[in-house]
Amino acid sequence: MRELYADVIVDISHEKLDKAFQYRVPESLRGALETGMCVTVPFGGGNKPVKGYVVDLGEVCKFDPDRTKDILDIAANGVGVEDKMIALAAWIRKNYGSTMIQALKTVLPAKQSVKRLEHRTLQRIMSREEILSLLGESRRKKQVAKERLLQELADQEAIPYEWVTAKLGVSAQTVRSLERAGAVRVVTRESFRNPVKLEYGEEREKSLSEAQSRIVESILSDMGNDRPGVYLLHGITGSGKTRIYLELIEEVVRQGRQAIVLIPEIALTYQTLLRFYRRFGDRVSVMNSTLSPGEKYDQCERAKRGEIDVIIGPRSALFTPFPNIGIIVIDEEHEGSYKSEASPKYHARETALEVAKLHGAGVVLGSATPSLEAYYRAQRGEYRLFRLTQRLSGGCLPTVYTVDLRKELKEGNRSIFSRKLQELLADRLNKGEQSILFLNRRGYAGFISCRACGHVMKCPHCDVSLSEHRNGMLLCHYCGYGEPKPAVCPECGSKYISGFRAGTQQIEEKLHEMFPGVRTLRMDGDTTKTKDSYQQILSAFANEEADVLIGTQMIVKGHDFPKVTLVGVLAADLSLSAGDYRAGERTFQLLTQAVGRAGRGELPGEAVIQTYRPDHYAVVHAAAQDYEGFYEEEILYREMMEYPPVSHMLAVQIFARDETRGIQLADRLAETVRNVSFAEEAGAEQEKALRVIGPAPASIGKINDIFRFVFYVKCAEYDKLIQVKDRAEEMLRQWKPQETVQFDFDPVNTV
Ligand code: ADP
Ligand code: ZN
Ligand code: ZN
Repeated sequence: MRELYADVIVDISHEKLDKAFQYRVPESLRGALETGMCVTVPFGGGNKPVKGYVVDLGEVCKFDPDRTKDILDIAANGVGVEDKMIALAAWIRKNYGSTMIQALKTVLPAKQSVKRLEHRTLQRIMSREEILSLLGESRRKKQVAKERLLQELADQEAIPYEWVTAKLGVSAQTVRSLERAGAVRVVTRESFRNPVKLEYGEEREKSLSEAQSRIVESILSDMGNDRPGVYLLHGITGSGKTRIYLELIEEVVRQGRQAIVLIPEIALTYQTLLRFYRRFGDRVSVMNSTLSPGEKYDQCERAKRGEIDVIIGPRSALFTPFPNIGIIVIDEEHEGSYKSEASPKYHARETALEVAKLHGAGVVLGSATPSLEAYYRAQRGEYRLFRLTQRLSGGCLPTVYTVDLRKELKEGNRSIFSRKLQELLADRLNKGEQSILFLNRRGYAGFISCRACGHVMKCPHCDVSLSEHRNGMLLCHYCGYGEPKPAVCPECGSKYISGFRAGTQQIEEKLHEMFPGVRTLRMDGDTTKTKDSYQQILSAFANEEADVLIGTQMIVKGHDFPKVTLVGVLAADLSLSAGDYRAGERTFQLLTQAVGRAGRGELPGEAVIQTYRPDHYAVVHAAAQDYEGFYEEEILYREMMEYPPVSHMLAVQIFARDETRGIQLADRLAETVRNVSFAEEAGAEQEKALRVIGPAPASIGKINDIFRFVFYVKCAEYDKLIQVKDRAEEMLRQWKPQETVQFDFDPVNTV
């Protein structure tokens, strides 16, 4: 009988994670031992028994077999926090494909030797009246950040410092200026107990609306059963979803359990955080990308010790090691940022379901434009769907005009602004109201379309747009189909067939030509390179230092600008024709969000959507703010083309220094996958359950001299795709190629 060896990571809380030690598996443990299990092993010179985790099993001894020690035993199966995290890592490894070490690194914070962090508080030392007079002054001077902070200080005597600075839009500089003015002082304490268990529960004074209390009651009573479910809250921004989260979490916390709230970082605003803080005081903590690894570690320790009940943060907050999670809330669940771009490419929504299962917790998903995945499952009864239809925050939905750019061209307007948009912009400038111009470059992949008739060059096999490559070829990034770029439109013969190339800078220039003296701000990847610039642009615009804000998708999320009464979408087609199957969904979401930016305040708003395809269902339904209408059509497309959520899709990505070797490996792997057969079907007529598409060059074919190839496997069952991945991993272990291979299940971002 051959020996069996296990790679064991020893005592995660004390060692660096990147090192595994090999042990022999004694006969008594064979068959019982699995990857992810906790074991005791002899460690170090003294062979002290310590706990460790099995990350891999194999028959090859990597060291001297005579000096390889035996595993002592499988550790007693406690239900500690760590066991759950290990189980979660094992699940991630299995479902998304990565090494166990990568998976462990994803779910566990790296041990940092930090000294216990101090908690700083900002304390008011002036009287409330004096603060109010300062407040009036900064209001006159339009210092919004300062004004916000003072408003808070007027209401309460102390605020945790981390709430003020980290991500909350108030700079350390502003705090210092208030210190100098003798208004506040920063107090440092080893451990800070919330001094004001907030008497300012103004939220609480307003009773829940009828719809809200019905939903809260239904969810609570359902969560009271032994198997809590998944609840999808479909409601536009301002319809009262956050208030529902707060009520549910409060009840869960009352029962002695904890809550995780995921919010995309870009949407994590000061106002939202403050509402949580007002309700839960210092029992709530924030996780965000500005925290150092040491601070993150400290957060996790506090969670383990039971010092906090609620954590708010982006994707990674899901791995907060709470002992007994009662609820996981995912706000804006449709956001692409919930999918990890690095291996393991887990989706926080799906992973949250697994965390919830481990803890017996409920999951609440919220969105104004639910992902097709979530809505599809709700339609099938897997999730319970709740709707909120009224906007509670005031303001009404804007009037939307869809402009056909083909018609503009025909009638002699070759500018990037349609006549309707020009007219409304002039009107706003006259009235001194603000506008936003939105250029949707998201997922932009160099598609080719006709400016006369709107025809888009598409792949005949995959029904996604073809992308232009340097050599004048048009390529499909799913199947690799290619054709030369046509000189004239195959539909109407017009010579105006080309890619759309305007950038935000060009738009800004054209705007100045058209309206001399217009004050503009620009927000895109270039103008937001530094950490603060994003906030600076937002506050400058909120301060009315500009008439028009021009930007990419960054500007349509999160922040509210009550003075904005006009939103112009310059080319809805940019995201509509991205070369992937989610183009329609993404466009609908972005257009809905963009349009919703207008008229949040007292003044009614208008929006203009410019497009070459005014009849496309994503445009039509976004203009009408009609989610169901959009869903009905989109799901038909997914069904017809067998795209998720109806079917599942695995992207296998190959990264190669050498182009030829990359193609060869891609071909070889794809061939292996084509030949995978499934045990349970062997006897029966083996119906081809898998469809392999490609390989093809990735949408960005080369980055930093690394060539990228990809092929896709479609299958109705996720589990079969896992088997495909396992088979591919097995072959890779044998072939040992120099190239890197990554797996992406149900990809969200174009690869
Ligand atoms: P969403 O999360 O859907 O955007 P919120 O919960 O933030 O919605 O509510 C939007 C606005 O309406 C907030 O200003 C909130 O304070 C207010 N609001 C929420 N629930 C109520 C209520 N029951 N009565 C009055 N105002 C409410
Ligand atoms: Zn044409
Ligand atoms: Zn294709």
